[in-house]
Amino acid sequence: MGRITLENVTKRFGDVEVIPPLNLDINDGEFVVFVGPSGCGKSTLLRLIAGLEDTSGGRILIDGQDATSTPPAKRGLAMVFQSYALYPHMSVRKNIAFPMRMAGVPQDEQDRRIESAAKALNLTNYLDRKPGQLSGGQRQRVAIGRAIVREPSAFLFDEPLSNLDAALRVGMRLEISELHNRLETTMIYVTHDQVEAMTMADKIVVLQAGRIEQVGSPMELYRAPRNLFVAGFIGSPR
Ligand code: ADP
Ligand code: MG
Repeated sequence: MGRITLENVTKRFGDVEVIPPLNLDINDGEFVVFVGPSGCGKSTLLRLIAGLEDTSGGRILIDGQDATSTPPAKRGLAMVFQSYALYPHMSVRKNIAFPMRMAGVPQDEQDRRIESAAKALNLTNYLDRKPGQLSGGQRQRVAIGRAIVREPSAFLFDEPLSNLDAALRVGMRLEISELHNRLETTMIYVTHDQVEAMTMADKIVVLQAGRIEQVGSPMELYRAPRNLFVAGFIGSPR
């Protein structure tokens, strides 16, 4: 569970092709980072995988099944946004429970998953608060908690830490990496931050203008960048 394959996936907005035919394999349990400058198509690619945008061509396979036309809620993926998208009038517990209520998960199972997510994210003492009574880091944890309880086959993160200050970012980076080690679930993580990419990824996908410039482990990209763009972006000594 959690294997994602893109076959000649393209995306046009009107006449503009923002993603030319693109091929990519993401293995089960991998932590994959999409990195590249602003406007290169990172969010669009993630939204195509999530099903929040329709492809203009090509196929998206999830665990070997064609999911190109599958609605977002049926793809078994959970997206975490930088804006948190929490409901301000609901408690943390209700925010986390929301996707499970929508999916009709039985109450005792909801409670079990909330306890487990709250424990993993250090939110046990905050379940009865409203989002407005939390720090930025805690709000981001609630957003992650809401993804965890769906027990997705993959997590999709779109620049989840960009609203946090630098010190908090480092801590959250570690928390997300630890979560990945614990859950062993596929994570696709979008960022324009090279340090995040280099420290978190099993596999980095470097994008420029909707194209994949290079795919490799942080060490591979650092040691053998394919071109000057990758070298400059990753900060290789060459
Ligand atoms: P990134 O996340 O890497 O900053 P995006 O995926 O948001 O980049 O955008 C890639 C390109 O697609 C940009 O040129 C952007 O202006 C364009 N784009 C994104 N969404 C839309 C849209 N809904 N309509 C038209 N153009 C869009
Ligand atoms: Mg973006």
